[in-house]
Amino acid sequence: MRQIKLQDYQVSIGNAWAEIQNTIDFNGVSKCFVLVDAMTKEYCLPLFLEKSQIKPDGIIEIPAGETYKTIETCQRVWNELFLHDADRQALIINLGGGVVGDLGGFVASTYKRGIKFIQVPTTLLSQLDASIGGKVGVDFLSLKNALGVFNNPEAVFINPAFFDTLSDRQLKSGFAEALKHALIADRSMWDNIKGITDLRTIDWEPFLEESLLIKKRIVENDPYEKGPRKALNFGHTIGHAIEGVLLETEHSLLHGEAVLLGMIAESKIAQIRGLLNENELSEITNHLRKYVDFSFDLQQRDMIINLIKGDKKNEGDKILCTLLNAIGQYAINQDISLEEVEVGLIYLEEQF
Ligand code: NAD
Ligand code: ZN
Repeated sequence: MRQIKLQDYQVSIGNAWAEIQNTIDFNGVSKCFVLVDAMTKEYCLPLFLEKSQIKPDGIIEIPAGETYKTIETCQRVWNELFLHDADRQALIINLGGGVVGDLGGFVASTYKRGIKFIQVPTTLLSQLDASIGGKVGVDFLSLKNALGVFNNPEAVFINPAFFDTLSDRQLKSGFAEALKHALIADRSMWDNIKGITDLRTIDWEPFLEESLLIKKRIVENDPYEKGPRKALNFGHTIGHAIEGVLLETEHSLLHGEAVLLGMIAESKIAQIRGLLNENELSEITNHLRKYVDFSFDLQQRDMIINLIKGDKKNEGDKILCTLLNAIGQYAINQDISLEEVEVGLIYLEEQF
C-alpha cells in the first residue's frame, strides 16, 4: 500500500482495506451510507463490503451515467438521507466513478450544511483525476459541473482491483489523464509511458502514485484554481467542447477520449505559436493517436467553436487555454483566438 499525504486528508493506493477502519473514527459516526450507481452496485459493492468489513446503515443507489449527474438525482439522495434520519454526524462513502464521487461529494457538502464523505473511486479516470483537488458538483442546463463547491473528503481509497470489471474503453479513457499529467509536468514519465503497449499489464500502484504526485504538486500550490492549477486543463478547452457537442449524438465520446483529441488540437496551437517544435508536435500526435481507436465526427466545427466561446475557463472575451511549452512543461493562461482553435481542429481531422 502507498499513501499520498495532502494537507487535510490522505490518499491510500492499493489494498488499504484495513486503513478505512483506522482512518475513520466510526464511534463518531451516527450512520454510514454507501452511495453506488447501478453498475458499481453490481461490480464493486460486494468486494468493497467483504474487504472493508463495513456494515452500512443504508445503500443508496443512483442510475449510472453522466446524464444522471444532476440536481434531480441529488434530490433523490438527499431524500433518502432524510428518510433514514441521517444527522450531521452521518458519513457517506462514494463508491463509483467520477459521477458518483462528484454527486455524492456535493450531496454530502450541502446536506445539513455538510456531512463527512469518503471517496472510493472505481474507474481509472476518477482515481487519477477526481481523487485530489476537492471539486464536487453536478451538471446543470447541459453545462458540465456548473453547480458545485470545493470541499475535501475525509479520505480517498484507490484500488486498481476495481479495474478488473472496467471495460477497455473506460480504462483507455482514464489513461488519457495520465498522458496529460506526463505531458504537462514530467518528461521522464512521458518517455516511460510511450513504452506501454498493453494497459492491462501496467503495474498500477507505482503508476498511480507517480501520476497523482504530479496532480498533488500542482493542486497544493493553487487549491482554488487561480493560477498554476489551470495546467491541468491542458486538452480540456477544446476537449470539453468536442465532448459537449457530440454528447447525445451517435458519436458521443467518453471524457478522456475527448481530452485525447483536445490535447492533439491544442498541441498544434502550441506549435504554430512557436512553443512546441515540429518534432515535439509529431511525437505527441503520433503517440496520442495510438489511443484514438474510436470514431468521431467533427463536422459541426462551428458548434464546437461556439461552445468554446461559452466555456467557463474563459474570462471576458478571451479564450484561455493551457498550452505546452515543451514536452513535460506547461504554460498556463494562453489567450488563444478562434482562428487558432480552427487550425487546431483542422489539424486534428487531418490525422485520421
Ligand atoms: P462514471 O462515473 O460515469 O463511470 C463510468 C462508467 O463505469 C459508469 O457506467 C459506471 O457505472 C461504470 N463503472 C464505474 N466503476 C466501475 C468498475 N469498477 N467496473 C465496471 N464498471 C464501472 O464516469 P468516470 O469516467 O469515472 O468519471 C467522469 C466524471 O468524473 C465526469 O462527470 C467528470 O466531470 C467527473 N470528474 C470529476 C473530477 C473532479 O476533480 N471532481 C475530475 C475529473 C472528472
Ligand atoms: Zn479531465
